[in-house]
Amino acid sequence: MAQKQDDKKVTPRSEDFAAWYNDICLRAELADYSPVRGCIVFRPDGFAIWEALRDELDKRIKKTGARNAYFPLFIPKSFLEKEAQHVEGFAPEVAVVTHGGGKELEEPLIVRPTSETIINHMFSQWIRSHRDLPMMLNQWANVVRWEMRTRMFLRTTEFLWQEGHTAHATREEAERETLTILELYRKFVEEFLAIPLIVGRKSAAERFPGAVETYTIEGLMGDGRALQCGTSHFLGQNFSKSFETRYLDDQNQMQFVWQTSWGVSTRLLGAIVMAHGDDQGLRLPPAVASTQAVIVPIWRKPEEGEKVMAAARAMFDSLEQANIRVRLDTREGLTPGFKFNDWEMRGVPVRIEIGPRDVASGEAVLARRDKSGPDAKSKASMTTIAETVSAMLATIQASLYAQAKTAMIANTRKFDDYNAFKKHMEGEGGGGFADIYWCGNPACETRIREESKATCRAIPLEQDTQPGKCLVCGESATERAFFAKSY
Ligand SMILES: [Zn+2]
Repeated sequence: MAQKQDDKKVTPRSEDFAAWYNDICLRAELADYSPVRGCIVFRPDGFAIWEALRDELDKRIKKTGARNAYFPLFIPKSFLEKEAQHVEGFAPEVAVVTHGGGKELEEPLIVRPTSETIINHMFSQWIRSHRDLPMMLNQWANVVRWEMRTRMFLRTTEFLWQEGHTAHATREEAERETLTILELYRKFVEEFLAIPLIVGRKSAAERFPGAVETYTIEGLMGDGRALQCGTSHFLGQNFSKSFETRYLDDQNQMQFVWQTSWGVSTRLLGAIVMAHGDDQGLRLPPAVASTQAVIVPIWRKPEEGEKVMAAARAMFDSLEQANIRVRLDTREGLTPGFKFNDWEMRGVPVRIEIGPRDVASGEAVLARRDKSGPDAKSKASMTTIAETVSAMLATIQASLYAQAKTAMIANTRKFDDYNAFKKHMEGEGGGGFADIYWCGNPACETRIREESKATCRAIPLEQDTQPGKCLVCGESATERAFFAKSY
């Protein structure tokens, strides 16, 4: 059983990115397939990453004034039908419950694909006057979207997420909230997950069904495909008008509220794997790693073992006291080489090796997961090990971000010739962000999608360039947009 993991080699990333991704998710024990098609099981190592994300994001969301609540999994089918665009967008992927308790239900229930409708139903009862506003709620929940083509974490029939829902007295306040959350998401993903992003608004075709405006954070994965990492929607009064969510303003007039909704999901786990992983396995940013440092004691003779283990335990204690999430690998019957590979696969940021000679010299060997080869290793005094590892974890967090940022910049190209753009997108390894002028006409967007499979990922909020010509039709364009093939 001991060396079982060596049975199957990981597919090299450069050979087949999709196969590599699945191998890593399974071998690092983040997730496993479930008996229900399209659903996955989160294993403890995968769920621990989600818990770390959830705890940190929850704190940040609460700081904005939103509070957590919980709404039911089942929603009356008629609710979904109240907002025309919303139902059109979600109906094809909704799971419907028609029977319960052995009987056919009078009204079928849907399993929530998102909760705008049921939350608006409750808002319409809770919001009476301007004094009830703003109402800002967040819920951590599972949602179900019946997907035809699924991929671990990125697209699964059931997934976990948070969905924020806010109601405001004015349009300006709701628009401001939408952008506040967008910036919160950007900082969270860049700082905590070490994934650099493009930030912008979505084109009409890519908008959330029922939103007036959708804003997005988009990352670039190791294969040059973009991944939508989170969205924040300005809903205008679309839902409040459908659900009669109104308040009495200070002039005693009834007004419809202005709303937002926003979410990030367990898809972020896939983003971490794809943005940072390599052929040896995961590379976890220290902020999300449930194990930040692992100590691997090495010895052959029993009399050495005693000394090595004593030193390893002392290091473990000092690291733990410094609030470093540390593990001591005391597994027996496994070679050091096997253990090194195993912890590399699991993406632990720092490995500490300690043998009899290290004990004698009062030093341990540190190996950084963000680097490879001789560069990855250094020696550290055991007396100051906690400070050294703490500083190294901060360096690794920054280094993973910098590596991903360098890759994103190298994979972002400007095009002013449509044929060159198409050739690039079709070509081997033809991915990355294309930074282009687009006139805003959906016909040009459709043509790009049909001819290159690239879609509009984001129209940056800050446009510092002069007006130019649309890459597709040559008409004048006032904005640049990022197009890419995506997940
Ligand atoms: Zn055009």
